[in-house]
Amino acid sequence: MRESHRRLLLDLLSLPTSPFHEHAVIACIRGWAAGRPGIKLTADRYGNLRLDLRRGGRGPTPDFFLSAHLDHPGFAAVRMLDDHRLEARWHGGVQPDFFREARVRFHSNRRWVRGRIDSYEVTDVMGRQRVSTAVVSVSRPVAVEAVGMWDLPNPTIRGSRLFARGCDDIAGVAGALAALDVLHDLGKPVHMGVLLTRAEEVGFAGAIAACRSGLLPKKARVLSVECSPVQPGVQMGGGPVVRVGDRMSVFDNGMIAWCHQVGEALARTTPDFAFQRKLLDGGSCESTAYLEYGRPTTGLSLPLGNYHNMDHRAGRIAPEYIDLKDFDRLVCWLVALATAEIRSKRGSPTLRQRFDREHRIWGPMLKQSSW
Ligand SMILES: [Zn+2]
Repeated sequence: MRESHRRLLLDLLSLPTSPFHEHAVIACIRGWAAGRPGIKLTADRYGNLRLDLRRGGRGPTPDFFLSAHLDHPGFAAVRMLDDHRLEARWHGGVQPDFFREARVRFHSNRRWVRGRIDSYEVTDVMGRQRVSTAVVSVSRPVAVEAVGMWDLPNPTIRGSRLFARGCDDIAGVAGALAALDVLHDLGKPVHMGVLLTRAEEVGFAGAIAACRSGLLPKKARVLSVECSPVQPGVQMGGGPVVRVGDRMSVFDNGMIAWCHQVGEALARTTPDFAFQRKLLDGGSCESTAYLEYGRPTTGLSLPLGNYHNMDHRAGRIAPEYIDLKDFDRLVCWLVALATAEIRSKRGSPTLRQRFDREHRIWGPMLKQSSW
């Protein structure tokens, strides 16, 4: 792993972020892009970001995009009820039981203010129990609209594992940027965009807006780079997962086959590269939105521990974690995908070629044999 990528990952994971309050992460990315003149940064009116890297001619707009989201389930400060009690709004998929007396922190006027949840309101959101607001005891007044997160430590590395307040999806963002960085330095022809979306955790709000605003071009093929809970058949440290679908959709077969094919080629040639393939139906991801808005898509997932900070075994809020080996392999895979020759935008080139070859052998036998 490049030291600069490790630094970027740790820096981004230290920042406050929650749905609709991604400004700290966005400012960091703007600074990152400003130091790389080959990368063009644009935004739509919804605040989604797009980074384009174009080297060599292939039309004005990239047709291949990585996508990751800038938020993590969290709070926004609404108002101080008195000197030490804050009303806060919550967005994201965390089971209400985990809120009981949980410790939180709000990033207010450039410093963290710690607090503890006194009470919370639960509402029904499309058949699911979701916390809407909470009253928090805080050590000092918190500014309106300050970002709130669980009170968990800054990112730490233990062995090959990285623990953080929210890997989902900041680790995905860091992975996409790291791949862009490698491609930027590589000097090879490349034509790729990275779409960084807002407020995924409320139901793909930024991704939907990016499709509608045109920030994500109509004909783009999209690869969601994200973190998904480890489930049976998936191994943490076993490599990123090409995601054939989620809880809501089955993804594009051509995109999946292409990722699989490039992954297999890497596994043959690159020591320590490994990947997995799975239907990850424990949750849903932005690919479902891209698919509905007509973009061929699949996802590459980092296996994630303590999904949405829920440590079900201990029954309490805990840091999310990923394996750094999986992160490295993800970057390697994304770079290979961006530089791989794409012969067909539909279907898997190799699979179709194999079937055509088989037809040349078996077609005549079908015709000549008795039937
Ligand atoms: Zn999430």
